[in-house]
Amino acid sequence: MAAAKVWFMDARAKRFLESTAIKGRQILEYSGWLDRLHPGDIVAVKTHMGEAYNVGYLRPIIVRTLVEALKEIGCRPFVTDTTTMPYHPWISRTVAMDYLETANQNGFNHSSMGCPVVIADGWLGTDDVVVDLDGRGTYLNKQFVSRAIADADALLSVAHFKGHPAGGYGGSLKNIGVGGASKRGKMNLHGALAGDKPVVDVSKCKGRDCDWWQTCEDCCPEGAIQVTEEGLKIDQEACVYCFACANLCINMAGVGAIQRFDFLPALGRRIADSALAVMMTKEEGKCFFLNYAIDITPCCDCYGWADTPIVNGLGVFASYDPVAVDKACMDIMNEAPGLLNSEAEEFGALEPGAKKLNIIKGKDVEPQIYGGVENGMGTTEYELEKVPLDRSQKAIAKFYPEVRAKKLKSMYSKNHPLKGIDTASFGRTTEGMKNPRHPKK
Ligand code: SF4
Ligand code: SF4
Repeated sequence: MAAAKVWFMDARAKRFLESTAIKGRQILEYSGWLDRLHPGDIVAVKTHMGEAYNVGYLRPIIVRTLVEALKEIGCRPFVTDTTTMPYHPWISRTVAMDYLETANQNGFNHSSMGCPVVIADGWLGTDDVVVDLDGRGTYLNKQFVSRAIADADALLSVAHFKGHPAGGYGGSLKNIGVGGASKRGKMNLHGALAGDKPVVDVSKCKGRDCDWWQTCEDCCPEGAIQVTEEGLKIDQEACVYCFACANLCINMAGVGAIQRFDFLPALGRRIADSALAVMMTKEEGKCFFLNYAIDITPCCDCYGWADTPIVNGLGVFASYDPVAVDKACMDIMNEAPGLLNSEAEEFGALEPGAKKLNIIKGKDVEPQIYGGVENGMGTTEYELEKVPLDRSQKAIAKFYPEVRAKKLKSMYSKNHPLKGIDTASFGRTTEGMKNPRHPKK
């Protein structure tokens, strides 16, 4: 496979038009992807709208700016994500109704996006299509792809590049591999349909002496957990491997009687296979991938918090190849110095060249990338092209359609804010002052 082109613009911003949101649109236009679309095409703009109280997810204006570009060429975009498995007891996005509430609170709605916000796998996550991977998958033979994404003419993936507890990292592959799968597609990529289960050591459970025992029972969607005075009973046959109980037991009870299996070499490849299934619903060239490598936190946007970033913002990256764009972000992140007061310092990963997330997570975090190469979806060979910023008057007119101060002239002429006010009585000038900081001295 030939090297893939990865376009990028850095994260620094000191002047007009250097907003990360505007850079995303400029990369999209520069890449030529928009020329492959036709008026009337329905475009799924797939992003992550953030868990409740998470503050690291991509800001809504980043997505809206891309939606505007699609609308200007006559496409019909919709902003989308899918229902989650529980993942943890308090997740707020497991049914469409709850996800839409959280999305609205996080700033994603029809009004802010300028287009519909759609939960692509429907009310309970069962609106999907089965895609046969034609033997290309490393682990998956078939996958459930959310219907709204599968039925769209084109897919624009808008991913936040950062770390991830189960997948090692999150970028384009996870944005469509996990986020494009329906709820039962997530069960499949967690390995539940193949028979993977959490690791359970009932002897560690504190039984009803555990402050969290009731939540432990309540969080299981299968009713597979029972906690008695004697301890934990778990029906592993019924388990769909959603991670909720394991996250509770480790993070809140601090026990680890139920742990995630998290065999990343398999999970990463399943994510890559699922991403391939999503791409197989589209004609060649109708998928495009944007990674926003900013606020690079060690965890994902599925938790209700966001830790400090482990490296500074790297910028916006784009490609037709989800493997290449993820690999480019990974490499450039590793080359960057780590940040103090972050997990990069805590785990000794500050040096430029240190494999940040490998060190922080204590494992090789790239199996998604290996899986994407193995199933033929993409390549780790990439050619990086820096996209020049368009600073023209035409460009500024696109984002700032008028000089709004112009309006003030006529308003001021009728009703100036300082009209009739004895302005001199409000203070003194700096003229002739020896020390403007301490004018009385
Ligand atoms: S037992 Fe299985 S299905 Fe139930 S909460 Fe735990 S991981 Fe999820
Ligand atoms: S959270 Fe862990 S320790 Fe507490 S009841 Fe559940 S399995 Fe037992």
